[in-house]
Amino acid sequence: MNIEQGISLRPYNTFHIEAIADHFVKVTNETELIDSIQTAHANNLEIYVIGGGSNILLTKDIHGLVILNEIKGIDILYEDDDVVHVKFQGGENWHECVMWCVEHNLGGIENLSLIPGTMGAAPIQNIGAYGVELKDVLVEVEAIEIKTGKKHIFSHDACHFGYRNSIFKLGQNGRYIILSVILRLSKNPVYNTSYGTIKEELELMGVHELSLLAVSEAVIRIRKSKLPDPTILGNAGSFFKNPTIAEDKFEQLRKWHPTIPGYKNEDGIKVPAAWLIEHSHPENATSWKGYRDRNYGVHEKQALCLVNYSDASGSDIFSLSERIITSVQQAFNILLEREVNIW
Ligand code: FAD
Ligand code: NAP
Repeated sequence: MNIEQGISLRPYNTFHIEAIADHFVKVTNETELIDSIQTAHANNLEIYVIGGGSNILLTKDIHGLVILNEIKGIDILYEDDDVVHVKFQGGENWHECVMWCVEHNLGGIENLSLIPGTMGAAPIQNIGAYGVELKDVLVEVEAIEIKTGKKHIFSHDACHFGYRNSIFKLGQNGRYIILSVILRLSKNPVYNTSYGTIKEELELMGVHELSLLAVSEAVIRIRKSKLPDPTILGNAGSFFKNPTIAEDKFEQLRKWHPTIPGYKNEDGIKVPAAWLIEHSHPENATSWKGYRDRNYGVHEKQALCLVNYSDASGSDIFSLSERIITSVQQAFNILLEREVNIW
């Protein structure tokens, strides 16, 4: 274990924002992780964990110990005729785990192909896309409590998963480091192709017989056509969550905006934040979509993605997000919530 001083975090966040970590360590096994936690405690340093850095916005230098989770490993724990329980270590790359499942013909997470980041971060916001969420396959999470260094097992129910939410984001934000995740995967997959344009993409691909590989490939193709590649253009995916509003409020809005999309869920109607952003506008321009201010802005194809064109600061992007929140609130009286973690 090698704790370094004054390390640039630019290579470790997909927004490519410059910020300096006073102390920084890469951990590749549990012993190194526990040693790092103890060192931080002994030196009174606050701990920050990074996986792929694809869901954080750095707005300042970090005066503490940044731990980069590189703990790898994939183990099959249980298997019968229908299901397999697989334990993935938290530092495994999420998309590589999806590909591992596809190669082993294990269904459940193929719709979550190409989401950046690590397995350990996936439960934090209950990652989701194309009609599937992590909670649909999660069995349990193993985590270390930072304060005590003790291990805890969180059953599926104990994680309190919600829409882009879990206990690790709610009351217990920053209290635990997720070590590993156990997923229940299916040997007899039920393909979920009803969402968005997956079916059309499969047709375009000339697929006549569904397979995990085909569904995964369709999702990858759709994502590549719509989303900025963070290796080329700094971003952290959707900056805001899709808000859920009361049904009567939705009906009122629909009188004024007949095209407003809405999806019923257990709490009301979920409205795509991208639509709200596209239908409000900046003070000095006609649309947020494609809006650019010096070296940062809003992606031209996806109004939910804020982008760093070169060397924007985290505070530039944060204040852009504030302007967008204000403009959506003024236009629709809906308060957008940030999905990205602000550091
Ligand atoms: P980081 O950004 O490194 O960390 C995020 C938060 O989790 C931080 O608060 C961090 O401290 C904490 N954390 C990280 N690892 C651990 C750990 N082991 N234990 C405890 N806390 C930890 N998200 C979706 O849900 N669906 C999508 O479809 C999606 N698409 C995206 C597309 C793009 C192009 C990008 C850039 C992002 C996208 N995201 C999406 C967001 C992001 O990829 C996910 O939230 C992902 O799970 C973040 O993983 P990470 O390892 O990069 O987390
Ligand atoms: P999209 O297909 O254009 O749809 C816009 C929004 O409407 C989505 O956010 C989605 O909510 C909602 N939606 C669409 N069809 C729906 C349906 N049949 N049932 C319920 N809700 C529906 O979205 P997109 O921007 O291209 O993204 C595609 C998927 O990838 C989405 O699931 C999105 O969440 C995910 N994604 C997430 C991130 C991130 O950083 N979090 C980044 C990129 C893409 P949901 O978000 O609830 O699905």
